[in-house]
Amino acid sequence: MKYVSTRAAASDTAERKRFCQILLEGLAPDGGLYLPAHYPKVDEVTLLRWRAIYREQGYAALAFELLSLYIDDIPAADLKAICDKTYTEAVFGSKEIVPLKKLEEPLYLLALSNGPTLAFKDMAMQLLGNLFEYELARRGEELNILGATSGDTGSAAEYAMRGKKGVRVFMTSPLGRMSPFQQAQMFSLMDANIHNIAVDGVFDDCQDLVKAVSNDLDFKRKYKIGTVNSINWARLMAQVVYYFAGYFQATRSNSEKVSFTVPSGNFGNVCAGHVARMMGLAVDKLVVATNENDVLDEFFRTGVYRVRSSADTHETSSPSMDISKASNFERFVFDLLGRDGARVKALFGDALVKEGRFDLSADPAFKQAASRYGFASGMSRHADRLATIKATFERFGVMIDPHTADAVKVAREHRQPGVPMIVLETALPIKFAATIVEALGREPDRPAQFEGIEDRPKRVTRMAADVGAVKAYIAQHCP
Ligand SMILES: *Cc1c(COP(=O)(O)O)cnc(C)c1O
Repeated sequence: MKYVSTRAAASDTAERKRFCQILLEGLAPDGGLYLPAHYPKVDEVTLLRWRAIYREQGYAALAFELLSLYIDDIPAADLKAICDKTYTEAVFGSKEIVPLKKLEEPLYLLALSNGPTLAFKDMAMQLLGNLFEYELARRGEELNILGATSGDTGSAAEYAMRGKKGVRVFMTSPLGRMSPFQQAQMFSLMDANIHNIAVDGVFDDCQDLVKAVSNDLDFKRKYKIGTVNSINWARLMAQVVYYFAGYFQATRSNSEKVSFTVPSGNFGNVCAGHVARMMGLAVDKLVVATNENDVLDEFFRTGVYRVRSSADTHETSSPSMDISKASNFERFVFDLLGRDGARVKALFGDALVKEGRFDLSADPAFKQAASRYGFASGMSRHADRLATIKATFERFGVMIDPHTADAVKVAREHRQPGVPMIVLETALPIKFAATIVEALGREPDRPAQFEGIEDRPKRVTRMAADVGAVKAYIAQHCP
């Protein structure tokens, strides 16, 4: 399998890369995102086999089958070992890894958040940790991951990389702005290769620091600075697997259709659903659910993609969906426009930079977002979240987190009789206790292993929002 940039001309085959070449990279050199040169089609015979494999051998075996279609530069036995080591019952809490729960016909929840940090990002990040360790050892290299987090991404990255050889993590976060549970999760890690940096400032300050360090190319090269952000193809690919696992649990035969509703921010999760559908999975609708930051809902309703300013980006009670632009969205637009890299470049590299928006409403391709690719969308506000958390708890005895609640609210508006509507559950309620208390008047359930986590010793370095200080800290901790 070769990988292309979303901004490359179709004739430009010289720039195509293999999986391990793009694994440790971020953006393509032309500013685009990597995608496979084609989506492997999964035929009826293969689907039957995969259904049996998931049932009889489990999620890791299914992941190995799917990943093998996209990775041909890791020997099969090694890739199998990586999958087996990643997706275990011990780490994810159940044999199914992503168990399906029925709420009421036709509404289901696909539980993606039973990994170490209780958010779905573990599904991809745990694999990434093992792939990074493998590839770095093979090359005899080291990597220093520098990131900015306001919650879920940072902790998922740290739990994936803790104790891994050849990798260090330097994670900046805005001082005092994460939930107490999220702070405790990250700061209680005592592994020598994990560094928490609490910055005097807001999340944007952290992101600016990361950008400033990465823009110093000499420093970046000397200290082998890398990232694990959501545009990494390996993360997206890992997420495709659970769409298949969800489908197999919701259906008895491969002729049945299902729909998915996905609480969306950077469009990584739902883009994995798009890839699953392109591979031939019988997906009827892919419903994008947003919160008040409705960049994506606006696009799917109107054809206008409009990036928000920071003043126009709301801080909400589903904070992991608070985005001003959706960094993976370019991947879908590439497919929507018939993989015309020159047009994608004009839209994302030009119009968006100059005008902060582009408009596809008059383009015939825009209609195909719904008709050909199955996309639909909806939006949910704070009051909707509270009402949905309450109603779901009262009617089904199931406690859901605010992000999942956004999706349940929107899923109800798009469900059709006879077609299972699978909502992706992206976090557990304990991570967002304040909103649960507001909705239910009681504290959320706490998994036993997190009892008293807030009282554990913390390992974190406080720092001013100063590039020089961050660089000095990194230099000091890289022998
Ligand atoms: C990251 C995150 C999302 C958004 O996922 P995207 O892939 O960015 O669309 C939704 N819910 C939770 C809990 C998250 O952590």
